[in-house]
Amino acid sequence: AQLSWAERLKAGLAKTRGQIGSLFSRRKIDAELLEELESTLLMADCGIDATAWLLEQLKLAVKRDKLETSDQLRAALATLLLQLLAPLEEPLDAGRGKPFIMMIAGVNGAGKTTSIGKLAKHFQGQGLSVLLAAGDTFRAAAREQLKAWGERNDVTVIAQESGDSAAVIFDAIHAAKARGIDVVLADTAGRLPTQLHLMEEIAKVKRVIQKTDPGAPHEVLLVLDANIGQNAIQQVKAFDKAIGVSGLAVTKLDGSAKGGVLAAIARQCPKPVRFIGVGEGIDDLRPFSAEEFVEALLE
Ligand code: GDP
Repeated sequence: AQLSWAERLKAGLAKTRGQIGSLFSRRKIDAELLEELESTLLMADCGIDATAWLLEQLKLAVKRDKLETSDQLRAALATLLLQLLAPLEEPLDAGRGKPFIMMIAGVNGAGKTTSIGKLAKHFQGQGLSVLLAAGDTFRAAAREQLKAWGERNDVTVIAQESGDSAAVIFDAIHAAKARGIDVVLADTAGRLPTQLHLMEEIAKVKRVIQKTDPGAPHEVLLVLDANIGQNAIQQVKAFDKAIGVSGLAVTKLDGSAKGGVLAAIARQCPKPVRFIGVGEGIDDLRPFSAEEFVEALLE
């Protein structure tokens, strides 16, 4: 049988959950347990900053609330993680513009194209009309992939054989306005993770979008692979500097993700996590819920 998305998230985070779980199943709270928890959190991609914060807060809680059992420590960790991640839970409101113009960025392989398809389906499910702008002009295959996908799913895709990303997106926004479309999903050229310094083109795309509507883009969504560890921080910062990231889609949290990257983001470069990707299927993009995430990580 097909796993539900919640089961897939749980399966994805199984390794981290198992490691934390085995720590807590064993014994009383002592320095050794806290030290092992620290290395477990670091290995789970929480990063030095979030790990240090969690440990410090846990030690305070142990003293303040006179915690004795590892079960109590686990509950305290759940509370702290929730406190850390809850501010990232800020669902996307597509009513902020008409059309609501979303610019989508990310490095190659992060899951950008897949996520755009999922997003189109998500908005259609809300009764909104969607138009895709095939702005990833760098990769011809991306354009073809998007066009084929649009045909199958009854979504208009504006693409050009030649012309730069900004021009395609500019045309697409005008087409969307003329047709009374609700949501424009503008794909942008991907780049290699080693090309984070090459941001001129994408910055230009943003300036061109701004010319179509003073409030646009209404969302600058960065698609991030959850499995790249601390590189995620570097990517958020680089894209944020160039185009002002307003939200994240964190993909591939199924499979074998460690999950801690969200804690690292919360501490080091907080941005609303609009969606999480939990599979390759069209329905496998979910609005982020901190509570569900902490549950999948700890229970
Ligand atoms: P792009 O280069 O950023 O456009 O990346 P793609 O959308 O082509 O995705 C790269 C690979 O990641 C593809 O094989 C996708 O099916 C896969 N992928 C994307 N999102 C997810 C996800 O949430 N979970 C899993 N397991 N795979 C994903």
